Amino acid sequence: MGSRVESHQHHPDYVSLAALMSRELKSEKMENPSVRFGCAAQSRKGEDYFMMKTDCQGLDENPSSTFSVFGIFDGHNGDAAAIYSKDHLFNHVLDAMPRGLGRHEWLQALPRALVAGFVKTDKQFQSKGLTSGTTATFVIIDEWTVTVASVGDSRCILDTPDGAVSVLTVDHRLEENTEERERVTASGGEVGRLNVIGGPEIGPLRCWPGGLCLSRSIGDMDVGEFIVPIPHVKQVKLSNRGGRLIIASDGIWDALSSEAAAGSCRRLPSELAARQVVKEALRTRGLKDDTTCIVVDIIPPDNSLPPPSPPRKPQSKLRSMLLRTKFRGSATKLSKKLSAVGIVEELFEEGSAMLAERLGNDDTCNSNKSGLFMCAVCQVDVAASEGISVHASSKPCRQGPFLCVDCRDKKDAMEGKRRSGIRVI
Ligand SMILES: [Zn+2]
Repeated sequence: MGSRVESHQHHPDYVSLAALMSRELKSEKMENPSVRFGCAAQSRKGEDYFMMKTDCQGLDENPSSTFSVFGIFDGHNGDAAAIYSKDHLFNHVLDAMPRGLGRHEWLQALPRALVAGFVKTDKQFQSKGLTSGTTATFVIIDEWTVTVASVGDSRCILDTPDGAVSVLTVDHRLEENTEERERVTASGGEVGRLNVIGGPEIGPLRCWPGGLCLSRSIGDMDVGEFIVPIPHVKQVKLSNRGGRLIIASDGIWDALSSEAAAGSCRRLPSELAARQVVKEALRTRGLKDDTTCIVVDIIPPDNSLPPPSPPRKPQSKLRSMLLRTKFRGSATKLSKKLSAVGIVEELFEEGSAMLAERLGNDDTCNSNKSGLFMCAVCQVDVAASEGISVHASSKPCRQGPFLCVDCRDKKDAMEGKRRSGIRVI
């Protein structure tokens, strides 16, 4: 392309490459949505924390391209894990991203980096010897693509302009999640209700020892490592009509259904909407728990489009979300069509608690020039002879990605192959 432009550079009908690129950038910019957000919170125990960050830079090849990050961390048994995750999770995710990627590849690499970042945060927090734990619901918005990673029961929902509400997270609560209950039990945990000696069983299902109601979290080293930090990850591409995300701790969701939360704040700008959702939850249930809500609006550049309208009638999730398309490479045309008719495209969803399944088979991205391997979770350099394949059952195996000895140990513990959460040295 460069030579063609060069050969015609003096022809009056031709525009310079620089001008073309500038035009391209401008039109790209004009097609991008804007992000507006607001947050509201009422504290009871002081263990809810949140983060909101816009204008984050991630793409090496295009420094002007930015994305936004939002997170809610609902702590328990103290606030240390929530504060640590708020301060470090984002950087740990970025640390796990391969360098030099284009936008499409960057988005494709995110789910795997989120898994590594969550596990690294958990591992590093646990090494401090503190016993608290936290949920983490972490949302990355890059133009029209929304990627949500979550452990615990802080939920993120999507309300689209046609009034269809869908949940982008999965609640990791032992009471409601049979699959997780089976996994915890198979890994050596005991699941049961609180039982006062001689009295009836009370309250929700919990994992023993520790008595945690959640099946996944960051921290919680006193509970058993089968309470894993491996997040459920979902990635969707919004239509060109945009949408609204409501990210909130269980103080909201124990009081309001997803539809009720979305319905309570339609037509309000994000800041007021967040306040309205908290108000509505308190009106319904009172202040029984820390209650935090972030509302994020992804707004089309042509702001003359009508604001989200109330739903005409309840719609099924299936109708509002297109089922996963596995042909991502060839999905661009389809994606444009879907966007034009206002359909949200589901790009990725994975919730397995097995680290090997989540890190995949990619063995090209974590060896460096010096011939050392990089641990896929914590990024420490590992000599080829010491790196243990995430897929190896015992002796070294050539198939990456590779883990350092500590992370391999952590993986075994999460799968119930090592009983104690505390490593004896
Ligand atoms: Zn490691």
